[in-house]
Amino acid sequence: MIDVLVIGGGSSALCAAIAARHHGASVRLIERAPRQLRGGNTRHARNFRLMHERPTPWAPDTYSEEAFLQDLVSVTDGATDQRLARLLVQGSATIADWLSDKGVRLQRPADTYTSYSQRTAFLLGGGKAMVNALYAAAARLGVATSYESELIGLDCADEHQCRASIRRGVAIEKIVAKAAVVCAGGHQADLDWLREDFGAAVDGFAVRGTPYADGAALRLLLDAGARPIGDPGRSHMVAVDARGPKFDGGIVTRITAIPHGIVVDRDGRRFADERANMSKSHFAEWGARIANCAGQIAFLILDSRGLARARPSALPPIQADSIAGLAAKLQVDPTALEVTVRDFNASIAATDGMSPRRCALAEPPFACYPLRPGLTFIHYGVAVDPQMRVMTNSGPPLAHLFAAGMIMAANVLGRGYLSGIGLTISTVFGRLAGEAAARHAARR
Ligand SMILES: Cc1cc2nc3c(=O)[nH]c(=O)nc-3n(C[C@H](O)[C@H](O)[C@H](O)COP(=O)(O)OP(=O)(O)OC[C@H]3O[C@@H](n4cnc5c(N)ncnc54)[C@H](O)[C@@H]3O)c2cc1C
Repeated sequence: MIDVLVIGGGSSALCAAIAARHHGASVRLIERAPRQLRGGNTRHARNFRLMHERPTPWAPDTYSEEAFLQDLVSVTDGATDQRLARLLVQGSATIADWLSDKGVRLQRPADTYTSYSQRTAFLLGGGKAMVNALYAAAARLGVATSYESELIGLDCADEHQCRASIRRGVAIEKIVAKAAVVCAGGHQADLDWLREDFGAAVDGFAVRGTPYADGAALRLLLDAGARPIGDPGRSHMVAVDARGPKFDGGIVTRITAIPHGIVVDRDGRRFADERANMSKSHFAEWGARIANCAGQIAFLILDSRGLARARPSALPPIQADSIAGLAAKLQVDPTALEVTVRDFNASIAATDGMSPRRCALAEPPFACYPLRPGLTFIHYGVAVDPQMRVMTNSGPPLAHLFAAGMIMAANVLGRGYLSGIGLTISTVFGRLAGEAAARHAARR
């Protein structure tokens, strides 16, 4: 019997496995994806949020425990477990050093190309480099890792052991462990499950991350009596390029230039004020809006000045010398789009001088990024206690079953989003869950 079985292959699983091994446990890690696609959504992440009472090499100025907590309470509108939230914030104070110690490299604000960030640290080489560093650290420590291995059964009814069934190709392996840590991500890649809460609109969604986070492990836990938390109909969605892949488009298909143009539906009509939110995270509001559009499709229209201000994205914009020409390429009624642009330009002229950052769409060539809702994650998972033990519907937590990362993120992030909070949740809670699982195994 091994001490700790870790299910998943992203940052929460890796942090749990490494932490458990540090505490003397024998550890197996089961990653569903093939080796070249290991790392789940963590591969796509760029930065994580951390409190710091003084400037650090990775984040300038300060970001206090209370400021971080207040930000979390504010974006979630109170849908956060205060005890877990405080654990998360306090854990974030040491997670950068802990990760660095495992070989994860962070950018230094002085020599970075990213924008100034007081509250988050950026990974050098992005999430993929982080994943590679953590797998290497886990291997050095003696964590036994299996790829293309999927958890398909988990029985923790016996309080002394968890029995897992792992499918690898046609073979089924039975693993018995003193404790298990489930870090298998959310269910955002299971389109059938999504359809239960979002209806047929799901066919128009892009899933920004791994197709392997399909919630099968979450379903196993819920079916076994784990207490659910959050709302399966609530999600974090952003505007992405509609021409990107259905899965795994990652960060490069996100479209961030919305305030520099207008967004129209497939009838050529605007449906929201593109400049009502000029913050860096404005695109996060547009995912849900586009999800409500017919066909879950919309078009960002820019003129040459707007295009010059847009950040480069993976796919080049569709361009034409006239609005009517652009409309034809988009299969939008040219007259409707011309009327929309004319009305918009007239409204700019009427407010001239009052809103200097607004520009009429007047200078050809005109450009378009077609947009879809890009689903990042669902605010739903299993409830845990402060030791990361999975709570049950019948009351007490299971002493030997732990969860970390996106599968339990709704405990602290019941709604909303803060940049960098996903990785903080996965690394800090992953570390805590691994330590707690190893302590439990040592007592057995
Ligand atoms: C495009 C994109 C960009 C993002 N950028 C950021 C960012 O900059 N900062 C930030 O903080 N957050 C970001 N996030 C969110 C962040 O990536 C996640 O919150 C975090 O990676 C979650 O880590 P995790 O370990 O819980 O899950 P994941 O990293 O998704 O890992 C889940 C793992 O479980 C495995 N798995 C699933 N089912 C099974 C099974 N049955 N058996 C075995 N293994 C299984 C999967 O293969 C995968 O390896 C981003 C997400 C996306 C999609």
